[in-house]
Amino acid sequence: MQYPEPVAKLIDSYMHLPGIGEKTATRLAFFTVDMDADVVKNFSQALLDTKDKLTFCSICGNLTEHDPCAICSDPTRDQSQVVVVEQAKDVMTMEKMKDYHGLYHVLHGVMSPIEGRGPEELNISSLIQRLQKNEAIKEVIIATNATPEGDATAMYLARLLKPAGLRVTRLARGLSVGSDIEYADEMTLYKAVEGRTEM
Ligand SMILES: [Zn+2]
Repeated sequence: MQYPEPVAKLIDSYMHLPGIGEKTATRLAFFTVDMDADVVKNFSQALLDTKDKLTFCSICGNLTEHDPCAICSDPTRDQSQVVVVEQAKDVMTMEKMKDYHGLYHVLHGVMSPIEGRGPEELNISSLIQRLQKNEAIKEVIIATNATPEGDATAMYLARLLKPAGLRVTRLARGLSVGSDIEYADEMTLYKAVEGRTEM
């Protein structure tokens, strides 16, 4: 027997999510069938809003409802420091720490020869332009993850930026090798920023 088409489609949709196999997707689909109509409507609207109402900040690449984003448009932020992160979610993580008041730049990934992703696939040219245009920026703090790809990207950026006379630093290895910023607690992240090293 086959599932009714709406259920089959829902199972298929859930299977697009990371870490969700057919079994879990099926369980979630039947759970959804039992949910209140209002809750399902809000759920589907929230999904649509992520596509309709969000854009990337034209300055830093952060995810935002308004371009430029709230951080780039805030004159009280320290304009001399830029933290370079892999993903928009890393900005949220750094912001939770509350001890960093500078700016950000989101790369939207890291260099990966295996996946055929070079520097031109990343949000790097806009970083260069930004640094050229904005003389207030004195330090670039590279906060890519401590993975081989994150390290290679950090090295690439350091080679690119240091000749321009910028201070280029990297988060201290309080974050153990291979770990994501995402999973670091606030104290670990604070220590990683405080103990950042020259590249
Ligand atoms: Zn921005």
